[in-house]
Amino acid sequence: MGLFLLFIDGMGLGDEDAGINPFVRAFIPNFKALMRDNMVPTDATLGVEGLPQSATGQTTLFTGINASQLLGRHLHGFPNKELRHLIMEHSLLKRLKDKGYRVANCNAYRDEYVSQILKEDTLGKRKVLKSVTTVATLAAGIRLRTMEHLLEGRAIYHDITNEILLKKGYKVPLSDENRAVHTIISLMKDHDFLFFEYFLTDIAGHGQQMDVSVDIIQLLDRFIGKLIKNVDLKKNLIIITSDHGNIEDITTKTHTLNKVPTFLIGSGQDKLKGDIKSLTDISPAIEKGLTPLLEMPKALNV
Ligand SMILES: [Zn+2]
Repeated sequence: MGLFLLFIDGMGLGDEDAGINPFVRAFIPNFKALMRDNMVPTDATLGVEGLPQSATGQTTLFTGINASQLLGRHLHGFPNKELRHLIMEHSLLKRLKDKGYRVANCNAYRDEYVSQILKEDTLGKRKVLKSVTTVATLAAGIRLRTMEHLLEGRAIYHDITNEILLKKGYKVPLSDENRAVHTIISLMKDHDFLFFEYFLTDIAGHGQQMDVSVDIIQLLDRFIGKLIKNVDLKKNLIIITSDHGNIEDITTKTHTLNKVPTFLIGSGQDKLKGDIKSLTDISPAIEKGLTPLLEMPKALNV
């Protein structure tokens, strides 16, 4: 019993225009149902001028602290020293871990990347670029899952399908949304909070390719549909959100100022809906949503 967070990089709410928005062209029955019944449009601009960016947006998502306001600007790409310190001290993962919750990062990391990080830690010299979720995972003392976990069905590669790994020569099976959801269900059995990060949406948005974007959105739609069907929504909560807009407008190479969708699906969803207005509200909502879920067995036993 617990909470699963699906973080999708660069997914905003765009115009109903098939010329610019791949969501309008794609076959997405699950997204459409969620947009009707489970969505809270969420501000990603954080009250700071300019286009919202990943480092500040994700830091805000995973700490609840307005990182853009703190820096006085939106920071793209990977978190700088100031943001890394903020994440190390205040991340949601650390807070949950300190409360004794069992937390997992479902993403599988390439072995070379993990060994680069370990080398960096030992020598303290080489700096390896680390995303917000990677910094948060390491700082909370949560394991980075590797290819070994992926082969055991205990981790998911960020593209869901493993195609990127296969192209790089890894001996892994081709995967799909069914296998990914199977992994999540299995991890939910022994974790209270878990998350998976998908960022090909952001890359596709920057690439401005309609066909690629439509394919990616359809894969996500099938993944989400399968997830909703297989997770016991009476006992668990699924939250899906993003850090800023991008893929919903392929006429621009950059991010957008659009709101992002936050979908709340499952136990306690209605109690949290009113709490979410901006990216700063996601972490507190996750903490608030988790407590009753974890107390549920006691309540049922009374
Ligand atoms: Zn981007």
